[in-house]
Amino acid sequence: MFAKLKTIASLAILIGVVLLLVKVEETFNMYNAPYIMIITGLILLVISLLAANQEKSLICRLGLNRFEQTGRDREVEALFIYKCERCGEEKKVMKTF
Ligand SMILES: [Zn+2]
Repeated sequence: MFAKLKTIASLAILIGVVLLLVKVEETFNMYNAPYIMIITGLILLVISLLAANQEKSLICRLGLNRFEQTGRDREVEALFIYKCERCGEEKKVMKTF
């Protein structure tokens, strides 16, 4: 359901941008319709992003994790383990010096 919302939101933004570029509003007197479509699309996109991810923090749900280095991989020396202090999501990053 939320994947569908994301598609609709992306389409609304796309159509809004196209309408702006072709300047349809001058011919058909559409006033602010392209701007409304873009803004509505952006809002829907944020809602679908917030609903799709189940992480605790609102900021993390938008993909902005706060990663802190917590350790090193036991087998691969160059792999550093990072953990988000807000939601606890882990990732491994290759570091070469
Ligand atoms: Zn996080």
